[in-house]
Amino acid sequence: MEKNATGSVIKAFGNLLHVEFQGNIKQGEVSYVKVNDKQFSSEVIEISDNIAKIQVFEDTSGIKLNTPVEFSKHLLDAELGPGLLTSIFDGLQNPLEKIAEKAGYFLSRGLYIPSLDREKLWDFKPLVKVGDIVKRADFLGSVKESHFDHKIMVPLKYFNTFEITWVAKSGAYNIETTIAKAKNENGVEIEFSMLQKWPVKTPLFEGKRTSLSEILSTGMRVLDIPFPVLKGGTFCTPGPFGAGKTVLQHHLAKYSDVDIVIVAACGERAGEVVEILREFPRLIDNRTNEPLINRTVIICNTSSMPVAAREASVYMAVTIAEYYRQMGLNILVLADSTSRWAQAMREMSGRLEEIPGEEAFPAYLSSRIAAFYERAGSVILKNNKIGSLTIGGAVSPAGGNFEEPVTQATLNVVGSFWGLSRERSDARRYPAIDPLISWTKYLDIAASEMNKFSDRWKEKIKKANEITKYGNEILKRMEVVGEEGISIADMTVYLKAELYDICFLQQNSFDPIDQYCPIKRTIEIFDLIYKIFEKDFKFDNHDEIRSYFLNLQNDLKNLNYLAYDSFEYKELLKKIIEKLNI
Ligand code: ADP
Ligand code: MG
Repeated sequence: MEKNATGSVIKAFGNLLHVEFQGNIKQGEVSYVKVNDKQFSSEVIEISDNIAKIQVFEDTSGIKLNTPVEFSKHLLDAELGPGLLTSIFDGLQNPLEKIAEKAGYFLSRGLYIPSLDREKLWDFKPLVKVGDIVKRADFLGSVKESHFDHKIMVPLKYFNTFEITWVAKSGAYNIETTIAKAKNENGVEIEFSMLQKWPVKTPLFEGKRTSLSEILSTGMRVLDIPFPVLKGGTFCTPGPFGAGKTVLQHHLAKYSDVDIVIVAACGERAGEVVEILREFPRLIDNRTNEPLINRTVIICNTSSMPVAAREASVYMAVTIAEYYRQMGLNILVLADSTSRWAQAMREMSGRLEEIPGEEAFPAYLSSRIAAFYERAGSVILKNNKIGSLTIGGAVSPAGGNFEEPVTQATLNVVGSFWGLSRERSDARRYPAIDPLISWTKYLDIAASEMNKFSDRWKEKIKKANEITKYGNEILKRMEVVGEEGISIADMTVYLKAELYDICFLQQNSFDPIDQYCPIKRTIEIFDLIYKIFEKDFKFDNHDEIRSYFLNLQNDLKNLNYLAYDSFEYKELLKKIIEKLNI
């Protein structure tokens, strides 16, 4: 086998080193910079002749002229196997909690602990027998991880077919133990363990991509009805600072109809990430009443961490998600916020002295953002099960200005755009997702599914959006001419829009009942409000109609706080319908 390439440092600009090397290396290859008895990981980001530019993942003090560098031949990759769930990693998959136990939060230089526990034993059950023919991604066995059957697969790096020659009996093994042996067509024997590695920057799956068809219900009315997302789809939540992006992401993590959630937290400040580390493990999963962390992996970075580690974090998150999707599960990746990730790209590009594009972001910003969201999708596996990977990113444009490059590049590629507005969060109309600026491309598919539960779905949503828009125009006019200056007909439209906003679009994230609205309940309420939209109200004066709607609004709001289908809920619903005479 060819020897690994080696080199030595000839120049340093912060974390970017110029290295003169001998041998063969490739773009993206991991390299190690050796200082005394420690070694620092780095990644090759540019090669010209025998000079490589490498980006060190850690603080570079101690690195001097002629410091030796060794190249590893492998790309930046993720360790995959049982034990990922409940973990908190940094962008390079260093296990932050385990490091914290040893050395306090945030990486101490040159300290390496394997991503996955090597000692822990997992109850392995074989799914193959001697003589079986297998190929990449076929299931060799399974272990119980949280509530899931974590499938042990033939690593995806293999493209041959294998014949199983030996398989371990059911029993407890650690992730490095050989659990099966197989020979390829040439009779060469290889061994499989429960651990495999996937490169993080290339999408990986086995199976066929399939078109999206199923709604991903989120338990949030404003999303599930007018702006739904599909399993395997993409969405983004841009909004100014403090508008509620993080609260929204927590909600999605808790209530989205998926099996596993991977959170890529790229925080503004170290404090924000520590907050996530502290708060996230406290969230309770409403499906199981167990900590949500049992079906979550968190990838965590702060601006104080080296730029290359921050840049890698979203890829790490998607790779872990692709791995679980390959088992036929539904996965949600939440990146908060992708603006920090884009800033990491900008910093790296600046150090490489690349020609900058808009607002000094690299010219490839939009293609990188597109490539990230393109890793979402549904895959149909050999056993006909469908695994899905949905990706949602928060975007935090400075001053809430959606014209900036990261927001623009994102809205070009995502399927649903959930824009949070300062206007709504200032008015405490939460969630601050603004129905006037949000949109989705999934409405046709979602509507055809929703028609099973309620007729003319698309038409109804169009009508609701129109009333929202028209109601807002009337409000603007009313602010100028006063209530008496508009007709009773217009006043009615405005009050219908306001009712829809207050009783349907708004939802209290901190109320134990209202925070989660199951899809059946959401449809029921929406259908009721739609009947109110269609009803021709007859009133003589503004006061009369205002007080009528205020009353109705209170009833409907109260309904949101009652447990679904409880006696009280049914009684109040009956009363509302009687009063409306519909
Ligand atoms: P961002 O991440 O956009 O900067 P946060 O998600 O941290 O903003 O939200 C800021 C604050 O706004 C929260 O601490 C909370 O008080 C309030 N808030 C946000 N969303 C909601 C909501 N759905 N219901 C009630 N309050 C909310
Ligand atoms: Mg936030």
